[in-house]
Amino acid sequence: MTSINHITLLGATGSIGASTLDLIRLHLDSYRLFAVSGFSNVQRLLEICQEFNPVFAVIGDAYFDEFYHKMRALNLATQVLKSSEGLDFIASHDKADTVVCAIVGGAGLSSTLLAVKAGKKVLLANKESLVMAGDLVMKTAKETGATILPIDSEHNAIFQCLPQAVQGDNTLINSKNFGIRKLWLTASGGAFLHKSYDEMRTASVAQAVNHPNWSMGQKITVDSNTMMNKGLELIEACHLFGVGVEQVAVAIHPQSVVHSLVEYVDGSFLAQCGTPDMKTPIGYALAYPNRLASGVKPLNLFEMAKLEFIKPDEKKFACLALAKQAMKLGNGACIILNAANEVAVEAFLKGKIKLTDIAVVVEKCLAFDELANELTTSFEKLVDILDLDKRVRKIAQLMIDYL
Ligand code: NAD
Ligand code: MG
Repeated sequence: MTSINHITLLGATGSIGASTLDLIRLHLDSYRLFAVSGFSNVQRLLEICQEFNPVFAVIGDAYFDEFYHKMRALNLATQVLKSSEGLDFIASHDKADTVVCAIVGGAGLSSTLLAVKAGKKVLLANKESLVMAGDLVMKTAKETGATILPIDSEHNAIFQCLPQAVQGDNTLINSKNFGIRKLWLTASGGAFLHKSYDEMRTASVAQAVNHPNWSMGQKITVDSNTMMNKGLELIEACHLFGVGVEQVAVAIHPQSVVHSLVEYVDGSFLAQCGTPDMKTPIGYALAYPNRLASGVKPLNLFEMAKLEFIKPDEKKFACLALAKQAMKLGNGACIILNAANEVAVEAFLKGKIKLTDIAVVVEKCLAFDELANELTTSFEKLVDILDLDKRVRKIAQLMIDYL
């Protein structure tokens, strides 16, 4: 008899949340949804509670009353909590075996860190937590024995292509025995790969929330189209796998079939391939070290006419260059990069700035006098990280107002 794995799903109402629920639905004999969180989508969270009957459901503070009354009206047994207290509570609850961290942005950091502190099996989609606090998160995992399994598709691909000993220990990657030379992150190149900088500059919100290969939340879609997503992923890879920026290379691969690669000293390149569908990496991490049927359409090798790999143009995709620069500078610079980007993406989505202004705002924040002392600082406490994050958000907002 297989034992049931109890799952806390943070960000259940989002795109990663939906893919995770699809997998749980397929394997109800092995997985039980213990707790969920949503932020503002009351209707979706109600539907999830009706279908999966979790013990706890967490909703954004401002939506609590509405959600609470609707849950009562449905006579559901699920306990309802506010985000401000509930997120950390369900992320570290004794009864949860696995925590899926799929909240978008810096808002996901505290609960991710709590899950790691509690020694959980952590399925990490929220790359922003590693960008903001990679050293702290990885160090805490080492102390508590938490297993961090990346479900970002590229990192999941690299993880799959690493020797087993290295999968569980990011201090081993440069040990001579394993012969690992480089990690290759693939990128789709987004919707503007074959468009000019000028077309990117004048892109509408509708164009920028559209992605050629992946169906994802709005923020990550915009990030993919500016290639900030690849920049954040580069930083994520450095922390997850214990390498420096120079050991991570980026290749644009518009077909999104090769999800990433590991280059070895003997000339081997090991790649993980598949149909672009997040159910593959999520399923891999859920069942790790076993495998799970995910319902993903298999690749048809005979239909793949060509696979291209293109060097990114870091002038056009300035966000990628800025992320590399931030990683080289230090923890503080990565916090600044992430916070400035989040504020700028939001401003773009509200029609306040142009798509190409996102890089401008990030660059200005990284060069801002008042933040100069923070660039190379390593932060050991969550409160200090959140404090800098808050300061940068205010500065970025001012920059947007005066752009
Ligand atoms: P999404 O926008 O579809 O969903 C985001 C989730 O976060 C929702 O459940 C929302 O309720 C919750 N949320 C938003 N703001 C919040 C706040 N302030 N407090 C608490 N909860 C909040 O996003 P997504 O595409 O599912 O992405 C989630 C994370 O996974 C991101 O970090 C993203 O970079 C990463 N990721 C996503 C994909 C993908 O295919 N969607 C792939 C790789 C990595
Ligand atoms: Mg990714």
